[in-house]
Amino acid sequence: MQNNITVLGAGMIGTCCAIQLAERGYSVTLIDRQRPGHGTSYGNAGLINRGSVFPLGMNELVHHLFPALLKQTPHVHVHLRHLPTYWRWLVTLIKNSRTRLAYQNTVISLDALFQHSLDEHKRLLLKANAWDMLLEGGWLKLYQHEDAFQDSHRERTFYDQLAIQYDILSPSQISELEPAILPSYAKGILIKDTASLSDPCAVVNRYVDLLLSLGGKYLQRDIQRLIPHHQAYTVETTQETFETDQVILAMGPWSDNLLQPLGYHYPMAWERGYHQHYQPEDGCRLNRPIYDVEGGFVIAPMVQGLRLTTGIELTHRDAPASPRQLQQAALAALRCLPLGNPIGDTWHGSRPSMPDSLPVIGAAPKHPGLWFAFGHGHVGIGTGALTGRLLAEQISNEKPLIDMTPFSPLRFL
Ligand SMILES: Cc1cc2nc3c(=O)[nH]c(=O)nc-3n(C[C@H](O)[C@H](O)[C@H](O)COP(=O)(O)OP(=O)(O)OC[C@H]3O[C@@H](n4cnc5c(N)ncnc54)[C@H](O)[C@@H]3O)c2cc1C
Repeated sequence: MQNNITVLGAGMIGTCCAIQLAERGYSVTLIDRQRPGHGTSYGNAGLINRGSVFPLGMNELVHHLFPALLKQTPHVHVHLRHLPTYWRWLVTLIKNSRTRLAYQNTVISLDALFQHSLDEHKRLLLKANAWDMLLEGGWLKLYQHEDAFQDSHRERTFYDQLAIQYDILSPSQISELEPAILPSYAKGILIKDTASLSDPCAVVNRYVDLLLSLGGKYLQRDIQRLIPHHQAYTVETTQETFETDQVILAMGPWSDNLLQPLGYHYPMAWERGYHQHYQPEDGCRLNRPIYDVEGGFVIAPMVQGLRLTTGIELTHRDAPASPRQLQQAALAALRCLPLGNPIGDTWHGSRPSMPDSLPVIGAAPKHPGLWFAFGHGHVGIGTGALTGRLLAEQISNEKPLIDMTPFSPLRFL
């Protein structure tokens, strides 16, 4: 066994990979240029959502992409001038979502991940003394109009087929569950076997503490290059270089920076999302994250306050922030809750998304000892702990808990 492994990127994904390998006796070094959890894993809605099994597909595009060209929807904003950075993703996504079978296969693959994701997080949360950051109240989807609720029938059929537990709620049941929500909604769906994290970045940091207690190392370094040798790698950082037997590339939306020089050209898009925290007014609290389906925003109760998050902005990863989508969401959110005053600055991060909505987890096709764990799009917080386990199982030649074919790094090459 090549015992020495370096994990590049200390977001939820890299950190969980590092822990799972340290648990298996590997000598693990985790590297990030920032403090752990300060990339995309910082500002998300924190959901470990059993119901997040639906790929972004043609339906969503037709509904939201074309209006988005006029910037009319808080669900999707599109910056056409950055089309060269996401056209391959878009074309593959359209191709993938043309057949019902492809759509169903993605649902089944995401469901396979989510069936075990919460249990694996719970195991790590317990071990990392982070149980206090788990909220187990489910995930509440809210529909302002009966028609919009009726449109969710295909989704509910999948929930039934996949045995995902949910309740349909009337307006009075919504108020009973979440007294602070204003009476704007005709229907709700409570997805029950779902939990959330009240501070995803803090969870990543507790996971790093767990890694250290298992004998792993954490280094804050800016990685510049990855150089493959015969049965080893050099990791070049701005400060120094390291030799290592094996490498896991888990740099989320920045994975491309190292992939391209090695000859891997994945059709990844950066689906940007924004957040703003609000100081809830007296008595205004949420017991679980909520999603206003027509408004396209999520509000999640976090340690920092109520976190309002937006839908997708298709743009370049490094393009300057544009306030419009968050403003639209904040306006729409007024029908849901008296949010109170904004706290702190706005934040944005890029969901690293593959066109089939599935992450890339497994051995690099052209480089023995190099492993990939990126492309988790909208589900990297929820599936992080399990991703770490599945990759560690492959590296240590155990049989992975689930079939890994749908997540194969070979599928886009
Ligand atoms: C608004 C929003 C809401 C979301 N809500 C949810 C949700 O509710 N549930 C869910 O499951 N997912 C959600 N997501 C998606 C989720 O946040 C991501 O899938 C996940 O955080 C990806 O984790 P990661 O570890 O792959 O990437 P990251 O967390 O981005 O980690 C990559 C790391 O690589 C490091 N890095 C990059 N370049 C270098 C370099 N040169 N040298 C050293 N280090 C480097 C970065 O600093 C970073 O820490 C949401 C995303 C957004 C934007």
